[in-house]
Amino acid sequence: MSRGHQLGPKQLCPHCDSPMMCRTSQMISPLVRELTYQCTDVECGYCCANENRMVRDIRPSMKSKPSVPCVPMARKRRWKKKPATPETVAAPDDKPAD
Ligand SMILES: [Zn+2]
Repeated sequence: MSRGHQLGPKQLCPHCDSPMMCRTSQMISPLVRELTYQCTDVECGYCCANENRMVRDIRPSMKSKPSVPCVPMARKRRWKKKPATPETVAAPDDKPAD
């Protein structure tokens, strides 16, 4: 039995939780594709269309096309600062006087 070729990301049927097979993929724009999915459970038979959209850049392309619209950059991860302790606040001017 052939399992077919998976074109898009794995998807579960929202009705019966069986895996869904991506049947077609069509480019809507450079940043958007429409994928059609079919449930693999023949007794369910659910079919739907999904939209696969690029929502943000993580790293800009070094070969960007002027015709491709920009998407917002991902936010930089902010690390929580540890509260200051006497060890981390050691100032260079704290040397004892001669
Ligand atoms: Zn289903």
